[in-house]
Formats: sequence, C-alpha cells, structure tokens
Amino acid sequence: MNKFETQAIRVQAERSHNREHSVPTYMTSSFMFDDAEHMRAMFAGEAEGNIYSRYSNPNTDELVKKVCLMEGAEAGFTTASGMSAVFNSIVPFLKAGDHVIASRAVFGSTHQILTQILPRWNIAFTYVEPDDVGSWESAVQANTKMLILETPSNPGLALIDLEAAGVFAKKHDLIYCVDNCFATPYLQQPIKYGADIVCHSATKWMDGQGRVLGGIIVGKAELMAEIKVFIRHSGPAMSPFNAWTISKSLETLAVRMDRHCANAKKVALFFDKNEEIQRVLYPHHPKHPQYKLAKKQMTQGGGIVTFEVVGGYERAKAFIDEIKMISLSSNLGDTRSIVTHPASTTHSKLSETERFSVGITPGMVRLSVGLEHIEDIIADLQQALEKSKVVITKQMASSLT
Ligand SMILES: *Cc1c(COP(=O)(O)O)cnc(C)c1O
Repeated sequence: MNKFETQAIRVQAERSHNREHSVPTYMTSSFMFDDAEHMRAMFAGEAEGNIYSRYSNPNTDELVKKVCLMEGAEAGFTTASGMSAVFNSIVPFLKAGDHVIASRAVFGSTHQILTQILPRWNIAFTYVEPDDVGSWESAVQANTKMLILETPSNPGLALIDLEAAGVFAKKHDLIYCVDNCFATPYLQQPIKYGADIVCHSATKWMDGQGRVLGGIIVGKAELMAEIKVFIRHSGPAMSPFNAWTISKSLETLAVRMDRHCANAKKVALFFDKNEEIQRVLYPHHPKHPQYKLAKKQMTQGGGIVTFEVVGGYERAKAFIDEIKMISLSSNLGDTRSIVTHPASTTHSKLSETERFSVGITPGMVRLSVGLEHIEDIIADLQQALEKSKVVITKQMASSLT
C-alpha cells in the first residue's frame, strides 16, 4: 500500500455502519459526545475525534492524510481556497519587525500579501531571483524568518532549485515554504529537498475538474501545531463537500497528470515548430532555460505551456478572440483547456516593470492544457494563429491608410 497511486485511492475515512464502498460526505457542522466527561476530555485534547467542522471533519481528515502521504509530510490542514493556504502558511510564523525572503515570481495574490498586507504589520520582504539561488545571500537579514517559494511559477514557469534552496534555508535557519500547486505532489515533492511547509491551491490540478475551491497545507508537525492556532480561530475551513470532491479527484490524479503532461508536451513541440510563435516555455522542453533542473526535480513537465505570439499585445488578444473550443477563463488545471492573458488579468495589478521582471510580456499567453483529444487542441490553436494573423494584418493595413 505504499505506492502513490494506491494510497491516492485506498486512503479512506472509516466506513459508517452502512458499510458504503465510496466514502460518504459528512455534511455536519458539529459532532456529538457520549457524556459531559467525554466532551470535557475531547476539549482537553485527551480523546481523539471530531468536535466541530471548523476544527476537523472526517472528509477533511481523509484529504489531509492522503496529501501528507503524497508529499511525505507529517501533518496538515485543509483550507477554503489556495490563497487561504498560502496566507496561513506564512502569517503564523511572523510578528512585527520580521522579514521574509520570497521568490520574485510568485502568484499575483501572494505578491499582494507580501506588498500590501504584511507591511501593515511591519513585516518586510525582499524579492530574490528564482533562477539564481547563489545571489540570495545578500537578501538575508538578522530578522529574516522565512523563505517563500513557488516552482514552477505561475504563469512564467520559472523554476527554483529546491535542493539548493533547502541548503540555503538550513544555513540561515529559515522556515522553508513552497507553493507546489503547478507541479502537484505527483510530479514534485519539495519536502524531499528540505521544505518545511508545502501549500497548494487544490482548486487547480488536485480537483482537476474546475468544480470546487480548496487549499492544503502540509509539513512538519511542530510547525503545523503553530498553524493550527490560526486555522482554528480565524476559521478558513474547507467545506466537507469540497474535501470529499477533492479527495475523490486525487484517486485519478496520476492518470490525469500523465495525460495533461503528454498533451502539454505535444503542444510545446507544435509551438516550437510554428513561426507565429516567438517563444515557448515548457519545463520539460529542451529550450526551457532551466531544462536540466526541471528534469532533475520534476518527473514530468506539468500541464501548463506559456508562449508568446508574434505581434505582441494586440496579436495575443486577437489570438484569444479567435479561439473556438478552448475556454477563456481565469482557472487552470481543468479537464478543459483554458487560455488566459496574464498581463491584462491575473497580473494586471503589477506595474509593467514588475511584470517584465518576472518575465510576463504583453504578448504572453498561458495555456492550461486539458484532456480533450490532442488533435482537437492543436487544431484550435492552429486555426486561431492563422485567423489572428489575418486580423492583425488587416488592422495594420487600415492604420496605414
Ligand atoms: C491559483 C493559485 C493560487 C490561489 O489559489 P485559489 O484556490 O485560487 O485561492 C495560489 N498559488 C498558485 C500557484 C496558483 O496557481
């Protein structure tokens, strides 16, 4: 029972007296006690079990147990969204006067936490370059407490050397936290490289079907004990229904990711040969600047392909407008392929300079490659490239007259 796929399927909450094969949803806000003494013991932490669904629930417990096994972690929590997981991975360890080091290429809302929320509490941050761990030394201060990383990054697919980051974190006694959303534990396990905390947006590949929001935090038991205080009393609890849904989804994570990765690789190769594409980024494509590192720490390249269409901002928009089948939506990690334009949407809060510094150019498009037949995905991309070229050429001609 120690193989990834087997655990993803066979780790289940206890069956009820109905002996159901598929775990039921425990849609209950609270649980009952045998008597006053039992209730006292439960509240004192002297007896095992569930008290109240803000603290724990059989469905969220099952999900935590499963993800702990997948990531090689000791303990963890579920939260209502990926952002509540990121927030609660950071805030419990900081107080006024502290400092954190973060990779420059972090998710848009993580950037907002670092730049807009933490400074109100007098917590400072320094951004470091994801692809150059050697340059991080100068960012360390006497009050630095944490290292906050995301790899591969959304949407630029910048990678961080998790092993080198682990050595760095250990040397400076920093709590080492990784947002592992893009890779999933099936492709990459940061704890192997010394990460103390791993967080996820389960909304993405973990659910994988665009149905529910969710977040997960796993890691060292002693750190989870600190997070527990924040989770219990600020209440970002995941709904039992969402936990049930995501736990069910994890049963097929391996087969889904195998196909997502295979399709994404084919899309990357198609773009590489297409002259309407200026640049393509895919971790397991030999032209990715960190290809060797991607091969070392990720078993496959993931389901996201980021690319730049010839013709910049206007062409990228025209391309997206000509797409027929692929969805225009802000999610990713779905059975349905999805395109987005990061510069005008998810990363529009960043300044142009900040966007450039994390590799987000005006013509960049992010494609979350779905599970439709690869020939249909490529055909849609191909026709949108052709039509958008005609549109742009006409626009240019009319602007000249
Ligand atoms: C989407 C995402 C998040 C936020 O997750 P939500 O479930 O939308 O709150 C955090 N980190 C990364 C890398 C993401 O892609």
